[in-house]
Amino acid sequence: MGSITVLPDILASQVAAGEVVERPASVVKELVENSIDAGASKITVEFHRGGTRLIRVTDNGCGMDRSDALLCLERHATSKIRSTDDLEAVLTLGFRGEALPSIASVSRFMLSTRRREDESGTKIEAFGGQIKGVQESGEAPGTIIEVAELFFNVPARRKFLRGEQTESANLLQQVQILAVSHPEIAFSCIRDGREVFRLAPTEDTAVRLRDLHGEVFLKKLLPVRSIEIHGIRVHGWIARPGEGRTDRTQQMFFVNGRMIRSPVLSLPLREACDGVLAKGLHPPAVLFFEMDPAAVDCNVHPAKREVRFRDPGLIRAAALHAVTSAWETAAPVGDFSPRVGADPLFPPIINKHWSPTPFSAQRELVPVADLTPSPAAESARSAEPPSCIGLQSTSSTSRFLGILARRYLLFEDQESLMMLEIRAARERVLYERFLSRLGSGDLESQRLLLPQVLEMSPADIAWIDAHGPMLRAAGLFAESFGEGSLKVDAVPADAFALPVEQIVERLVDELRFLGDTPSLNNLGREALAASVSRLVAAGAAVPSGEDAARMILVDLLSCRLPYVTPKGRPTMIQFPPGELRRRFTA
Ligand code: ADP
Ligand code: MG
Repeated sequence: MGSITVLPDILASQVAAGEVVERPASVVKELVENSIDAGASKITVEFHRGGTRLIRVTDNGCGMDRSDALLCLERHATSKIRSTDDLEAVLTLGFRGEALPSIASVSRFMLSTRRREDESGTKIEAFGGQIKGVQESGEAPGTIIEVAELFFNVPARRKFLRGEQTESANLLQQVQILAVSHPEIAFSCIRDGREVFRLAPTEDTAVRLRDLHGEVFLKKLLPVRSIEIHGIRVHGWIARPGEGRTDRTQQMFFVNGRMIRSPVLSLPLREACDGVLAKGLHPPAVLFFEMDPAAVDCNVHPAKREVRFRDPGLIRAAALHAVTSAWETAAPVGDFSPRVGADPLFPPIINKHWSPTPFSAQRELVPVADLTPSPAAESARSAEPPSCIGLQSTSSTSRFLGILARRYLLFEDQESLMMLEIRAARERVLYERFLSRLGSGDLESQRLLLPQVLEMSPADIAWIDAHGPMLRAAGLFAESFGEGSLKVDAVPADAFALPVEQIVERLVDELRFLGDTPSLNNLGREALAASVSRLVAAGAAVPSGEDAARMILVDLLSCRLPYVTPKGRPTMIQFPPGELRRRFTA
């Protein structure tokens, strides 16, 4: 006799539960997602002892009739997809029809549900996946699900649960994430009989974030204004340059409303912070990505926490662009301390075409809590043409103090102290120069006296061959030259001082993330200009004296966005006289 048998349904559900239901927080995720899919406008989550004793989710959604209520405990029963085509374009949070039977199979389970149009509702009780009773019930329209004694019949799973505090914290975080993704839904959360939070519905995610995490959290963030890149719409919040935490609990990414974790999203954020944040710190961020559902496969993880993107390169580029554009449009006031700067609840009124006035006026231009601009801000904005005279005056009234640690230029201007980071400042200057050059053609390149042959991995060479136009736009002329060799004919003119090998390696590293974007659109040009500027700035020498130092200041202050590098690193920090005095006050 063969040894293969078909698993009984309950056992199959318990096996599936191992994937879908890891811990109380995952139960809450599935139940609340169902409530959201059911169109609820109010959801209450109660739990006891970290969710191991009891989890109760109550919603005012569409409810189920008696036959659906019975059916939803069957494996693969779902009302959300009917065909493979539907799976291509899932808009609901659930679609696998696995959660309820899985949860029911490892708990004492109670479902009470009623549709608005029905006289009475249905109440079902189950024990370890076996239905124990079905009755009529008289609850309000909507659905209540109780999950008690989670894993009572799977001791192995129970052993993997952490302490009550940890499970509670996970569970709360899960509810918070769901609440952030749906600010229009009222959420309450009750732990061991005591209310943890009650959130009023709002249209504004910022209000929801503030209600949950407080004003201080919000102050750390800058708004990412909605932008669309290659059909991907991104908006949300990103930490101000320099803000970071050792964990990623304050990073939330939503793809089409679904919270996901993905290195495709978290890595570019960390990368954008290179040089601003110490290694091991992560910038808080709340980012929403909206895209064609067909561009993302949600059906790769049983708990749907991970997704597969059809084109990760584009997502990466969109994430990076969102962050840097938020940093660029925010008005950096000399120092980046969180007390100053735009209130993130109210996006900065500074627009990209406005050129900044000198430091002394800068602070006036940052809108504070109310949206009524100060008279100074008004006049500065209506000043035509944008005041460049002011900029030059800063560079001419300032006094050069010296170079610190071969890295910082120090200037004094009307009792305030200005520090420029040489490399960051150069990056900004070069970036703007390259970007405008790319607008009308390719970057200048410098032909090598003799072509240079480099040894490289076949994969890198194949990539270089496939991206000729992009590399030539950057000023690099290179092609494969037999097995494992690359022939380089010309390099970006401004990078000429660097070893050829370094130029090629760094450029390829920098540009690879652009994915397979053969044409140079705006985004491609920005990324290209950023990469080459980083490359060139890294290879440039420390200015030799006052004239060269002043030149950097003059060049920087004539930039469109002088205060940050294309990746959002600050280029200069200013201590106004008041600030210095404050720091020396007892
Ligand atoms: P899925 O969400 O993948 O469809 P579930 O097992 O989570 O699978 O739920 C099965 C079905 O039960 C859902 O498709 C839905 O029709 C119904 N359902 C579950 N929870 C609710 C709820 N809170 N309100 C209304 N219907 C629900
Ligand atoms: Mg579901």
